[in-house]
Amino acid sequence: MTHEGIRFASKEEQARDEAQNRPLERTAVMPNKVRVLLTEGKGLEIDWQDGHKSAWSFAWLRAACPCATCVEERTLEGRKPGEAKAKTAELLPLYTPPAKPRSAHGVGRYAIQFNWSDGHSGGIYSWEYLRRMCQCGECTLDAMETTGKLH
Ligand SMILES: [Zn+2]
Ligand SMILES: [Zn+2]
Repeated sequence: MTHEGIRFASKEEQARDEAQNRPLERTAVMPNKVRVLLTEGKGLEIDWQDGHKSAWSFAWLRAACPCATCVEERTLEGRKPGEAKAKTAELLPLYTPPAKPRSAHGVGRYAIQFNWSDGHSGGIYSWEYLRRMCQCGECTLDAMETTGKLH
């Protein structure tokens, strides 16, 4: 996106530009409500203090694990956080059930940790990480539009 001189942007455009560039407000990374839909096996939902609502599936969260091992693995494979592993060609493909946490608990006041059914539990998902990785339609669209800027 280029800004050539002064132009009259619509209010909506202006608000969106500000939202993209601004560092996250305190209220944007402070959850009002955190719901871990364990029994439903659905995922994590957070209502933020700034009024935004986010939701992530467990499969996405598992593939976005922020622990050092997973980050390194994703970097090597060129995967983005939340992007599933490429299916390896196996002689006898085994059914791998989708990742689901056995339990989840808060870490201090800033993060959540999952004990995944595959035994992994090293990742600490900070509120800020989750908010920046919000998967709602609005945020993923913003992310797509700003990708050029971020890299
Ligand atoms: Zn991990
Ligand atoms: Zn969002």
